[in-house]
Amino acid sequence: MKIFTGIAKGILEHYRTKRNRGITGIQILLLSILFIVVASIMFLGVLLFNLYSQKSTAESEGGLEVTPAQLNVNDKDVKSETPKKEKEILSCTSSSWSCGLFGKCSGSGQQIRDCILIDTECSNPDLVKPETVQICILDIGTDDDKNSRRGSREMKENDNQQEQVTCTPTTEICDGIDNDCNGLADNGDLCGVGQLCLNGNCEAADPNYKVQPVIFFPTDYIADQDMVNYLKEKFEEIRQFYLNENGVTFTMLRPQVVSGNNDHEWYWCVNQQQGCITDNFEANVIRELKNKGFPVEEDWNIYPADKVTWVVAFGGGGYAGGRQYPTGGGFSMLGDAGIYAAKDGSCGKILDYYYSPEEPNNIKDVCQNTWLPSGKEYGFGIGALGHELGHAFGMPHPDGYSGTTPQDWEETIMGNHWNYPNTGLLQQDKDILAQSAFFNVIS
Ligand SMILES: [Zn+2]
Repeated sequence: MKIFTGIAKGILEHYRTKRNRGITGIQILLLSILFIVVASIMFLGVLLFNLYSQKSTAESEGGLEVTPAQLNVNDKDVKSETPKKEKEILSCTSSSWSCGLFGKCSGSGQQIRDCILIDTECSNPDLVKPETVQICILDIGTDDDKNSRRGSREMKENDNQQEQVTCTPTTEICDGIDNDCNGLADNGDLCGVGQLCLNGNCEAADPNYKVQPVIFFPTDYIADQDMVNYLKEKFEEIRQFYLNENGVTFTMLRPQVVSGNNDHEWYWCVNQQQGCITDNFEANVIRELKNKGFPVEEDWNIYPADKVTWVVAFGGGGYAGGRQYPTGGGFSMLGDAGIYAAKDGSCGKILDYYYSPEEPNNIKDVCQNTWLPSGKEYGFGIGALGHELGHAFGMPHPDGYSGTTPQDWEETIMGNHWNYPNTGLLQQDKDILAQSAFFNVIS
């Protein structure tokens, strides 16, 4: 901008000098032309400057209700720097709207979001209004017990009593070693955005179709190596289940242990804490995983096509859900309730909410009074792990196919997954997997 001001001053001074000597008509004409040219250049400069600032400020915008993808365009504050008078009336585009995140998945399989028109000067905004409703699959755990009682703090208390092995804590780095002595090697966000700590090295996320298992611990959980080892085995067990049933299975990246930035109630957004997305445990976890470099996106339309992220979330209680995105990638997440049940029947370690802060459900009682007596707690936990992953590959419940029978629900992990491991896949399930880019290995 200073350059342009300098030129303008120069012209002004030149004009004054000439005037003192007396100026001719031709000189006035030439000066006028020069003035118009310079004014045009300045206008162009201001325009380019505004476009640039719009891009560079977009990422640092910390709006709570707007996804990063939506921030890339049409930020209202930045836009207002452009003088209104110079704006033409243009047709609206989808980025004339600013949309919040989709809310929780309703019982009818829909989730909604609000979209606000941020460019109020374009024409026909309703023609390009983004979708505010989309279908979703949410497995309401595996039971519908609605008693409300918060869980205890048993897990944390018990774990605090774990004896410490001799270890001198230093800053955790990506080197395959437990530097900070928390019992886990390479835990936390060690490599920055777009990279993962794999086998002790920071590496770019794999570009090929792969499944990334994640074990997510909020700050009020102590990541315990015994549990981590158990889950690593179970991820592989499910991978083998798909191989045995389908003949072809998926490639799995090394499971990653993620230390969350917040306690579990923050992810549930219990008291509308600062920074959390209202009432959306999944979205809060997804946003943080994205910031830690994992291949996930809040915006469904830009979710990586070649990744399925497969999360076990501690503090997630009875949460269970999975979906395939329009791009072909997928995300599934299972809370800890079924995992504790499956591992050793330790329902007492379940702390938390079932689905949402408004509808806390005592999943701990469900675990104790329903899952354990059924003798199928393994299927309620590990079967659910495989079931939610199935949704991420695009498989529906059996009623998503025509002509299925009650018996079909027994015979697929996509139905009554609590039968696992004594269940399989329907032919229709296999037909879907045959079309999946993720299914390409036979061992
Ligand atoms: Zn399901």
